[in-house]
Amino acid sequence: MSRSPRPTLFLRPGRERSLLRGHPWVFSGAVARVEGSPTAGDTVEIRSSQGQWLARGAFSPASQIAARVWTFREEEEVNEGFLRGRVLASLLRRSLLPETRDLDALRLVYGENDGLPGLVADRYGSHLCVQFLGAGVERWRVPLVEALRQGWETAFPGLPLLGIWERSDVPVREKEGLPLRTGLLWGEEPPSRVEIREGPCRFLVDLRAGHKTGFYLDQRENRRRVQEHALGREVLNAFSYTGAFGVAALAGGALGVTNLDSSEEALALGEENLLLNDLPRDRWENRKGDAFVELRSLRSEGRRFDLVVLDPPKFAESASQVERAARGYKDINFQAFHLLRPGGLLFTFSCSGHMEEALFQKIVADAALDAGREGRILARLQAGPDHPTALAFPEGTYLKGLLVQVE
Ligand code: SAH
Repeated sequence: MSRSPRPTLFLRPGRERSLLRGHPWVFSGAVARVEGSPTAGDTVEIRSSQGQWLARGAFSPASQIAARVWTFREEEEVNEGFLRGRVLASLLRRSLLPETRDLDALRLVYGENDGLPGLVADRYGSHLCVQFLGAGVERWRVPLVEALRQGWETAFPGLPLLGIWERSDVPVREKEGLPLRTGLLWGEEPPSRVEIREGPCRFLVDLRAGHKTGFYLDQRENRRRVQEHALGREVLNAFSYTGAFGVAALAGGALGVTNLDSSEEALALGEENLLLNDLPRDRWENRKGDAFVELRSLRSEGRRFDLVVLDPPKFAESASQVERAARGYKDINFQAFHLLRPGGLLFTFSCSGHMEEALFQKIVADAALDAGREGRILARLQAGPDHPTALAFPEGTYLKGLLVQVE
């Protein structure tokens, strides 16, 4: 019996190189022709211009990333069993990490880095919050939800999973030609606030309306560091969101925390987090406003701090925005250097994937120079091990930061 050949993407000459190095994306510009009539999410074979088999991936005709690789092994079929195996491997990888043993909130699946391009699954207590960010995972959403449910039972025996909630309300979905969607995928709806633990701190997370899947799980290790350095210090938590760095600082013995954010709701949830942790209300100040304005106002009011956290949103959404973003990062870091007392600590971050670490360091160095301050890097900061970066996928690292001590 003859089978019709599977849909196949043939690449332009020379464009197989990144795939041969294990990079999981095929850009639309690398595709010479498409054979067969695959539709969005279909599994396609990927071959070089010479016809050499390279990989098997998910087709996404609307996206600049025309295919995301499921497997580089020709004998491996993409089916429900394959997805179950990948999901379970992701979950077990986390359950074996010593750092995450006592956590009840962490990333369990991190897309390309876990061999599941476009799938994000974060655990918050007994709930999962999931994002489908590509045509491939969208196609397989039902089996993936089942794989998560089954994988949880195996990886966390005795721990009940109550529900799986979807937060695919992310602009990258539109680049994939997918509608934004949120809602219940399985089990019970999450409560309006899910309580999680991080070391001595507890936090309330809004899975339905919070940023990303509800919380900045990627900053967990850095919150721990802030807590460790906070004793006896006055802390400015700029871009504070729900006050997580601030709670960590007070738990570590900070004299006071000033949270600065433009979002009223974020600051309000920060108050709830403060109360939940039984921390002194008189050491907690909220300042609502634009950080680009408020950092200057703090300076002109003569306010000074011993520890400053700068955790702004992504300033560069694309490579073309890096230059403009650099000016933004420079400005807030310049202001922070003015606000720091001698010997003070700056925890400064960029979560723009397009901003390279070396450039970020240069921007921070320039800001210090212009502010007339000297500093040294005590540590390079990144996301925790539940957000691993696949070696062949540098795009998997977006969060970078520096802990700088000023002279
Ligand atoms: N540090 C936080 C996450 C920060 S997310 C944590 O660990 O949980 C970025 C925050 O910056 C958001 O809460 C957003 O409301 C805020 N924000 C964005 N632009 C801002 C601006 N120009 N001024 C002040 N806050 C801003």
